[in-house]
Amino acid sequence: MPPFDLVAPSTPEEAIATLRTRPSGEVRVVAGGTDLLLDVDAGRIHPTTVVSLRRLPWRTLDWNGPALTIGSTLPLRALENDPDVRVRIPGLYQAVKAVGSVALRHRATLGGNLGRSAPASDLIPMLLALEAEVDLLGPDGARALPLDRFVKASRATELGPFELIRSVRIPEARPSAYLWQRVRPANDISQIAVAIAYSPRTNGWTVAVGGVPPRPRLFPEAGAVLGVGAPTPEAIQKAADRATRAVRLVSDRRASEEYRRHLVGTLLARAVRAAAAPEEFHR
Ligand SMILES: Cc1cc2nc3c(=O)[nH]c(=O)nc-3n(C[C@H](O)[C@H](O)[C@H](O)COP(=O)(O)OP(=O)(O)OC[C@H]3O[C@@H](n4cnc5c(N)ncnc54)[C@H](O)[C@@H]3O)c2cc1C
Repeated sequence: MPPFDLVAPSTPEEAIATLRTRPSGEVRVVAGGTDLLLDVDAGRIHPTTVVSLRRLPWRTLDWNGPALTIGSTLPLRALENDPDVRVRIPGLYQAVKAVGSVALRHRATLGGNLGRSAPASDLIPMLLALEAEVDLLGPDGARALPLDRFVKASRATELGPFELIRSVRIPEARPSAYLWQRVRPANDISQIAVAIAYSPRTNGWTVAVGGVPPRPRLFPEAGAVLGVGAPTPEAIQKAADRATRAVRLVSDRRASEEYRRHLVGTLLARAVRAAAAPEEFHR
């Protein structure tokens, strides 16, 4: 791997100040490093300075009534092991478990997953369905953005120069489910993934789809068909049919467009049933 200077500040202010003093093309931020270090090693990026966030006080998980705030540098494994997350937001637990392997999740973070914003991210679809907000901190202070605005395109975000992802806020614990299909269950990318959450506040369903170009997206059409409260089998079928027709899909080496089309409808119908009766679905 090409050499670089590693700086590990212990305060966010120091981290931002360090970013500001280096030429922008030459400095990068690292959290778990599971994406960034591969890019450095493969020569896709050439930082001379890497600012590690691991000493910042952001390895946090805070419940406030129904709301959950996750610090950006908390390893995914800690999120997965939180008993409240598993029970209160089962879809988030399932999405976190879908990321790589146990070893990877000991290092990988939520901030890194959003910072990367890969089209095949497992966390973005679930957080979209949970209507999460991203809390950013930069030289001009803090600001919060809905995740749907933060993720602009494949690997492109609203993160400004010298800005850091501080935390992610999920406004409400929700019955939810995250289902995916892959060629191999571990260390592979989903061919299609469906995330679904039910809001006790609005009585409505929110649906998001992952593994679609150019990035994971909300799918309000399906939520509208599912209606208010427990959906009927007919509404589930209608939402699945609509998803099968409406979502833009591609063929690539992982799956054909036709197979993906079949998966969207099938996973959506299963995800609604899983969110409504989580004990029947153990993956
Ligand atoms: C073998 C393997 C399997 C994988 N499987 C999956 C999978 O199944 N599903 C999935 O979704 N992903 C998967 N990934 C991708 C990766 O592990 C995740 O995206 C992970 O969450 C990245 O977190 P990190 O802390 O390691 O990020 P890093 O590599 O540290 O950073 C990633 C990017 O985000 C930026 N960044 C990091 N933290 C912040 C912050 N707080 N503020 C601003 N910018 C920040 C970095 O500058 C960098 O651009 C896999 C990776 C590997 C190597």
